[in-house]
Amino acid sequence: MPTPLIDSFGRVHRDLRISITDRCNFRCVYCMPEEGMTWTPRAELLTFEEIERVARVLVERFGFDSIRLTGGEPTVRARLPVLVEKLAGLGVDLAMTTNGATLALMADDLAAAGLRRINISLDSLRRDRFLELTRRDALDDVLAGIDAAVAAGIAPVKLNVVLMRGINDDEVLDFAAFGRDRGVEVRFIEFMPLDADATWGPDKVVPGGEIVATVDAVHPLDAQARGSDPAQRFCYRDGRGAIGIIPTVSDAFCGDCDRVRLTAEGGLRNCLFALDETDLRALLRDGATDDDLAAAVTANVGAKWAGHQINQVHFIRPKRTMSQIGG
Ligand code: SAM
Ligand code: SF4
Repeated sequence: MPTPLIDSFGRVHRDLRISITDRCNFRCVYCMPEEGMTWTPRAELLTFEEIERVARVLVERFGFDSIRLTGGEPTVRARLPVLVEKLAGLGVDLAMTTNGATLALMADDLAAAGLRRINISLDSLRRDRFLELTRRDALDDVLAGIDAAVAAGIAPVKLNVVLMRGINDDEVLDFAAFGRDRGVEVRFIEFMPLDADATWGPDKVVPGGEIVATVDAVHPLDAQARGSDPAQRFCYRDGRGAIGIIPTVSDAFCGDCDRVRLTAEGGLRNCLFALDETDLRALLRDGATDDDLAAAVTANVGAKWAGHQINQVHFIRPKRTMSQIGG
């Protein structure tokens, strides 16, 4: 029987986020610098076998039941369906977060390998603005990727929209209409201080409450009960789907957090904003047993803090950017 992985604040952890690469085919302004990223050499990335082993320990020892693949951009890692098949074989709810640019080519293979759910990031429905935000002229590819994911039977397909004040906050209602028309749930994410160019400031955050009010004024919404999912969900009263809000900055959900994160190099992080990691790659490559790995995970999660300090003067930005942690 698995033993629940509980931290010192009583939170049970069952959700693993795995970054499988720090590379990306985009350069989103809120995530990566335009130039100068140094990619982690291949030999320093966890192999698929190492990723599967860590995941298996978390599932078998601690009852983890949810895994999400992320990055960098997970679809740039070669032979991705092979990894998906390995992890799906653990019997978990397997999801992925992607920029969607190559999904039109891959969605069928990923669905066949066992990918159940997908979040596709899209921050503007306007071609010129999409280019400015991602530094790639790929809006049509992403739109085709959304259609391909739906057609492949991956469900639910959700959209992740990072809203930034004065940059794309005039598209809230366009995104709501897009989601209602396509039958996909749009999740608005507050801009977090994990951007490579360090341009973040509280004035750039569009608070979730404001987003809900904007949508509700046109398409009335009903709030849903919140569980361990960081998204607050609101269903359209007319039955045409839902939106989600991820209010990391204005209304943090740290008290219900059930996540741990594994970086592409095998660093175990107990928080997106953690300043320390446990080097599981070193343990794996030094011949650690499953007991050793489980003990390292228990110690890491046991030291988890109550919550991030974004709104406090003593907040320290992690050295890693979002693309290096895996959002
Ligand atoms: N490349 C994939 C993608 O873009 O979906 C996966 C990795 S990306 C780091 C994961 C999520 O983090 C995306 O939805 C992205 O929009 C979000 N993200 C990146 N930087 C962010 C920031 N500074 N604040 C809030 N969300 C951010
Ligand atoms: Fe790449 Fe995703 Fe970061 Fe954009 S948000 S640069 S797609 S990792």
